[in-house]
Amino acid sequence: LSDFERVVGKSWVFTSEDDLALYRDAYSPLWGETDERLAAAAVAPGSVEEVQEIVRIAARRVVPLYPISTGRNLGYGGSAPVLSGSVILDLKRMNRIIEVDEDNAFALVEPGVSYFDLYRYIREKNLRLWIDVPDPGWGSPIGNALEHGGGWTLNPFRDHFGAHCGMEVVLANGDLLRTGMGAIAGSRTWQQNRYGVGPYVDGLFTQSNFGIVTKMGFWLYPQPQAFRSGEILALHRDDVHEFVRITAELANAGIVNSAVMIRSPFLHAGLRDEQTAAVLVETEHGTAGTWDRLARDRGLASWATTVQFYGPPAVIAAQWGHVQERFAAIKQIEFRDGPAYRFPLSQAEAETVPDKSALGIPSLSIFAMGARSENYPSPADGHLSFSPVIPMTGKALLEAHRVFSAAVREWDIEPLGFGAGFCMYPRSFVFLFTLPLSRDGGTNRKARAFFRHLITLAAQHGWGEYRAHPVFMEEVMGVYSFNDHALRRFHQMLKDALDPEGILAAGRYGIWPKHLRNKRV
Ligand SMILES: Cc1cc2nc3c(=O)[nH]c(=O)nc-3n(C[C@H](O)[C@H](O)[C@H](O)COP(=O)(O)OP(=O)(O)OC[C@H]3O[C@@H](n4cnc5c(N)ncnc54)[C@H](O)[C@@H]3O)c2cc1C
Repeated sequence: LSDFERVVGKSWVFTSEDDLALYRDAYSPLWGETDERLAAAAVAPGSVEEVQEIVRIAARRVVPLYPISTGRNLGYGGSAPVLSGSVILDLKRMNRIIEVDEDNAFALVEPGVSYFDLYRYIREKNLRLWIDVPDPGWGSPIGNALEHGGGWTLNPFRDHFGAHCGMEVVLANGDLLRTGMGAIAGSRTWQQNRYGVGPYVDGLFTQSNFGIVTKMGFWLYPQPQAFRSGEILALHRDDVHEFVRITAELANAGIVNSAVMIRSPFLHAGLRDEQTAAVLVETEHGTAGTWDRLARDRGLASWATTVQFYGPPAVIAAQWGHVQERFAAIKQIEFRDGPAYRFPLSQAEAETVPDKSALGIPSLSIFAMGARSENYPSPADGHLSFSPVIPMTGKALLEAHRVFSAAVREWDIEPLGFGAGFCMYPRSFVFLFTLPLSRDGGTNRKARAFFRHLITLAAQHGWGEYRAHPVFMEEVMGVYSFNDHALRRFHQMLKDALDPEGILAAGRYGIWPKHLRNKRV
C-alpha cells in the first residue's frame, strides 16, 4: 500500500471501512455473508503512467488488482472484485474526453468518462452527434462495452463493444498496447478503422482479465432529423411464429434498425395465475384454444412489439409504412402510432421525453422499476440478472416462456421484467429477467440456488448467458463446454502467457491464474 501511495499520493489509496464500503456490490447475492466478495483496498490512479507503475508493483508483490471504470455494474457485480482481498484499481479519476470528431462521428474517451459526461460534453459544444446509452446513464462507455453491454437507440451503435474502434491497454507486465490503427506511431486513423492489420485482438480484453483498458474509441450516430415509433399487436397465440419471422427479416435487412423487444401483454398480465399457467402447459400440447379465449376475454393482445425509426422524416415514414405492409400478412394485426420528434430538442424538451434511452439521453429513471409504490410496498434490495440467449424464432420464445415460467412457479419466486425476448444483438433474443435479492440471507440463499438451477435448465435447452454476475461466472462459463472445455483451456493458456503472476481480475469469467485454479475461492 505504501508503494501504491508513492505512485498516486496518500489521498488516492483507500483502506478505511467507510471508503471500502463504497466498493461493495450493493446488489450482492452474498450480502453480509462470510463469502461476500470484498475488496482489501482501493487505489485510484490519475494517468496511464500511474496505472503502469501500479501494475508493476502488483506483479512484483503478487497483489491481486481488480480494475473498474465507473464501477456501476449493478445486477452483474457492482464494483466488487471476483476474488475477495483484491485491490480495486479505480479508474474514475481518468475521465478525459480526449476527442470528439463531428465529421467522422467518433469519440475517444478514458475509463472514468460516464454516459452523462459524454452527453453533456456533446450538448455543451452543440455537436450534431448522438450517443447510445444503457438504461442507467451513470455507467461508462468503456466499462459497459467491456461487459458486452447494450443500449436502446439503433444498430450498429446499440452494441457497445461492436461500436468501438481502437483500444489502449496496460498489460500485466506494465507494457502499453494500442490496437488496430493505434499501433502505428503517429496514427491518424485510430478511431476510423478498427482492424489495422494482423490478428484482431480487441475482443480478448472484454469479459476477461488480460489487460486494463485505459482508452477506447466509439463510433457515434450523426444526429438524425427525426424519430418516430409504432406499436404492433397480434391477437392470437400462434401469430408468434409469423410475428417473429417478419420482425427478424426486417431487422436483418436493416429496415427495422432499433432495439426490438417482443413481449406478450397477455402473459405479462398473469404469469402466476393458474389459468395462464394452464395455457402454457397446453401450449406444449399444441392447442391454442384456451390461450386465445382468455386473451380475448381480458382484452389483451397475445404479442406486441414497439419499433423505432431514426432519420429523415420521409425515410422513416416509408420504413413504418413498409413495416405495416409486411405485418398486414397476419390477420387482425393492429398498428398504433407512437411518439414522434424532430431534432434538435431543447434542453427542456429533452428533460421531459418519457423514454429517454430511445433518444440516447442518459438518465437513472430505470431505477423507478421495482421501486416502492402502492402496488409494490416492499421493494427488493437489489436484483440478479439472468440473461440467456435464445434463437430469434416464435418456437424458441414460446419454449422459453414455458420452461422458465414453470421454473418460477415451481420455486415460488417472483421475477421482475419476465417474459420478453429482446434483441440485444442481431439474430437472437436475450430472454432476460431478474430475481429479487434482499439483505436477509434466506431470500438470497434461495435466489442463488434458483439461479444455479436456471443456468443448468437453460443449458439443457442449448441456451447460455451473455453475461454473468461474479458469483456465477464459473458456472455460466462451465456451460460453454464444447470439446472438454476447449474455450476455457484456451483462456487459461492466454492467462498464463499474459499474466503469469495472476494479478489482474482473478476469476473473471472463470479465468483463474494457475495458482488459484482448481481451488475454491
Ligand atoms: C436497473 C438496471 C438496468 C440496467 N440496464 C442495462 C442496459 O440497458 N444495458 C446494459 O448494458 N446494462 C444494463 N445494466 C447493467 C449495468 O448497470 C450497466 O451495464 C453498467 O453500465 C455497467 O457499469 P459500468 O459501466 O460502470 O462498468 P464497470 O462496473 O466500470 O465495469 C464492468 C466490469 O468490466 C471490467 N472493467 C471495467 N473497466 C475496465 C477497464 N478499464 N479495464 C479492464 N476491465 C475493466 C471490470 O471487471 C468491471 O467489473 C442495468 C443494471 C440495472 C441495475
